Amino acid sequence: MIPAEFDYHRPDSKAQALRLLGAAGSEGRILAGGHSLIPMMKLRMAKPAQIIDISRIGELKGIVIRASEIEIGAMTTQHELIISESLAEACPIIRETAKQIADPQVRYLGTLGGNVGNGDPGNDMPGLMQCLNAIYVLESTKGVREVAARSFYQGAYFTALGEGELLTKVRFPLPPKGHGYAYKKLKRKVGDYATAAAAVVLEMSGGKVRRASIALTNVADTPLYAKDAVDRIAGTSLEPADIDAAVAAAEAIARPSADGRGSAEYRTKMAGVMVRRALMEAAARSGEAEDTPAPEKKGGIFGWLKS
Ligand SMILES: Cc1cc2nc3c(=O)[nH]c(=O)nc-3n(C[C@H](O)[C@H](O)[C@H](O)COP(=O)(O)OP(=O)(O)OC[C@H]3O[C@@H](n4cnc5c(N)ncnc54)[C@H](O)[C@@H]3O)c2cc1C
Repeated sequence: MIPAEFDYHRPDSKAQALRLLGAAGSEGRILAGGHSLIPMMKLRMAKPAQIIDISRIGELKGIVIRASEIEIGAMTTQHELIISESLAEACPIIRETAKQIADPQVRYLGTLGGNVGNGDPGNDMPGLMQCLNAIYVLESTKGVREVAARSFYQGAYFTALGEGELLTKVRFPLPPKGHGYAYKKLKRKVGDYATAAAAVVLEMSGGKVRRASIALTNVADTPLYAKDAVDRIAGTSLEPADIDAAVAAAEAIARPSADGRGSAEYRTKMAGVMVRRALMEAAARSGEAEDTPAPEKKGGIFGWLKS
C-alpha cells in the first residue's frame, strides 16, 4: 500500500530537529532508519502528517566508552554496533544481540534509537537495555530528561516518550571485566523476530553469582526485567536446581500471546529455555570477577545489576 500524505523535513542539527518536532506537536514523527516506521506507514497503521528525518544529524551518532559507562548515540546503526571492536571488548553482548537482528540490509540502516524507541515488543534491544540497566536520554525544546529502560515501556507501541521528545542517546554502566553474558534468541528463520529471547549478564566470584541481570524479549507486551529470576540465582553456584528456579521465575512473568510463532504456552516455555541456555553460556564465559571495590565506591558502576 501507499502511505498517507505527509510533509517531509530533513534537519541538519539536533536543535533544528527539536524545533521541528516541537512545532509539529502530535502530528510529528521521527524517521530514523525507517525499517519499522515505513512499513507501518505503508500499512496505514501509522499516518504521521509531519515526518522529521534525522538521518543527516551526525551529532546523534557515536559510541563513547568511559571509565564507568558506555554512551551510544541514537542514530548509531545496528551495523555500527557490530563492527565496533572497542564496544565488543567492553560489552560483547551488544554485538551478540545486534547480529541476531534481522539481516545485514536492515542492520545497515536500522538504528539503536529506532529499535529502543519503537515500542515493538519484538525488538531485541529493549530487553538487552533492561538487562544492562540503561538510561534513555530524551530531549525536547523544553529540556532534557532521563528515563530508565526498565520504566520506559508501557505497552505494545506505548512508551514514556512524550510529545516533542527525541531520544538522543542511551547510556549504561560499563559491565566489569570478566563478566559473563549471553543473548539467546529462538526464531523460526534467519531475519525473524523472536519467538522468545533472553539476555543474561553475570558476575561470578569464588564460584558464586556475585551479581546478575536477566531480561526477556517478545514474551509480553513489553520487554521484561526478570527480577525474581535474578533473585533465585544471587549468591548461588548455579547448581541445576538454582537454574531451574530461575527458569521457573522467568516463565512465571511471561505473558506472550499466541501467534504464528506458537501458542502462549509454547512461547512461555521457550522463554524458560532461552533463560536456561543464556545462564549456562554466560556462566561458561564468565571469568572470576576482578578485585573491584564495593559498588558504592565505584560511583554506580554496578548500577546495571541493581533492580
Ligand atoms: C525484515 C525486517 C526484520 C526485522 N527483524 C528484526 C528483529 O529480528 N529484531 C529487531 O529488534 N528488529 C527487527 N526489525 C526492525 C529493525 O531493527 C528496525 O530498524 C528498528 O526496529 C527500528 O529502527 P529504525 O532506525 O529503522 O527506526 P524507524 O523505523 O525510523 O522508527 C521506528 C519508530 O521509532 C521512532 N524513533 C526512531 N528514532 C527515534 C528517536 N531517536 N527518538 C524518538 N523516536 C524515534 C520513530 O518515530 C518510529 O515510531 C526488522 C525489520 C525488518 C524490516
